[in-house]
Amino acid sequence: MGKSLRSQISLYIMTIVLVVVALVSFLANAAVNRQFEAYMINQERGRREKIINDLENLYNAMTRSWDLDYIHAIGMYSLYDGYVLTVYDTDGKMIWDAASHDMALCKQIMGDITERMSQRNNNGFTTYSYDLMQGDRRVGTASIQSYGPYFLKENEFQFVNDLSEAFLVIGLLSCVVSILTGTILAHRIARPITKTAEIAQQISNGDYNIRLENETNTRELNMLLSSISHMADSLSRQEQHRKQLTADVAHELRTPLTALRSHLEAMAEGLWEPTAERLNGCVEEVKRLSSLVVDLDGLAKLEQDIFQLKKTESNLLEIVQNVSRNFEKEADNKQIRILVEGAPSSILLDKDRIVQVITNLLSNAIKYTPEGGQIKVQVKDEVTRGIVMIEDNGIGIPQKDLPYIFERFYRTDQSRNRKTGGAGIGLTIAKSIIEAHKGKITVDSNEGAGSKFTVLIPK
Ligand code: ADP
Repeated sequence: MGKSLRSQISLYIMTIVLVVVALVSFLANAAVNRQFEAYMINQERGRREKIINDLENLYNAMTRSWDLDYIHAIGMYSLYDGYVLTVYDTDGKMIWDAASHDMALCKQIMGDITERMSQRNNNGFTTYSYDLMQGDRRVGTASIQSYGPYFLKENEFQFVNDLSEAFLVIGLLSCVVSILTGTILAHRIARPITKTAEIAQQISNGDYNIRLENETNTRELNMLLSSISHMADSLSRQEQHRKQLTADVAHELRTPLTALRSHLEAMAEGLWEPTAERLNGCVEEVKRLSSLVVDLDGLAKLEQDIFQLKKTESNLLEIVQNVSRNFEKEADNKQIRILVEGAPSSILLDKDRIVQVITNLLSNAIKYTPEGGQIKVQVKDEVTRGIVMIEDNGIGIPQKDLPYIFERFYRTDQSRNRKTGGAGIGLTIAKSIIEAHKGKITVDSNEGAGSKFTVLIPK
């Protein structure tokens, strides 16, 4: 089954956010630390120089001697700050030394600093030596021992620790937020997709009554949903179509079969004399059935490969002329005149199928036009399309039937009564072919006056 989309998206979002948060925290922390260290090292140097400066000011140039009390004060003051001072005179004789002054305090202070700083680095104490100058004259030397290259006093150390803690808290908070947003976002992204998958599942189970929820705010998902909805519609229509077709075919077959059966039974049981006339009636019924089967076959074929048109550049006028020539004899028998006129129109079309369309229309025109009538066929060539108009002055089609005559098995009452033969499929086939060519077929008719069929085929 695989993992659910939602959990995968959550996982991705969380991973990305966590990595980013970790990276940002780490880099920010590192950057702050580096800046801070540079600042502290600078500060450190300044502090040492200040001590030396203070010392230099204590030298009494007049008496050429040091004021030991003051040196002591500075030494102790510095010691508390973490600087172990030793001062020598020009001869290199030690005049003041923190360590020998208060060994215990010195050790304690150095120990505290070492312990505190060992959490950050293990540098240990460094000794810095300075010349004590007054003007250009060297008046002594001093050395300062301090934890190098910088160290933190208690409050600074606290500050740095607080800062790290703050980073940690921010990091943790970001993680919590990322998990929450990840979950919520994943839910929002995954929900419509999950819903769509459910709908598709429903359709594949044969349930086309899908109910789409409100549109999502993702364009692609909306497109997907609307395609699925269209697919469901067209599947449902096809299903309906198939059921209807089966019902129609059964209905069409039942009537002639019942008639045929009752006639044959009556003759077999000796109730009816099997006269030539009655037998001919039966043959007529069988012929009707055969032609119905032929029509059905055509319809089935058409519905199978209607989209595989074999298009070639053809002249519409030529097609119409050829087809009407084939009907010459049939028309002559009814003394119907077929008039073909118009301009050549070259169109990319499936010639065999268009021949079938014109054949169906002309055959109808002859069928539904009484003796002595006239059929006018006109071909027009327009910039974007070719047009064929087939007009007869036959029985026409009642207004109430006009919307339905292109439907399968639909026949007007007159054509049923007259037993003119057809099964009501010819126009259905014609319409399918024309629509496969992205064209249009329309009818205009007045009952008793005639009909006019117009076919438009785009170039
Ligand atoms: P059919 O095989 O019955 O002719 P069609 O599908 O070709 O089937 O036509 C459907 C119905 O439309 C016909 O039965 C007839 O009632 C009507 N029809 C078609 N063409 C004409 C026409 N030129 N004049 C009058 N009625 C027509």
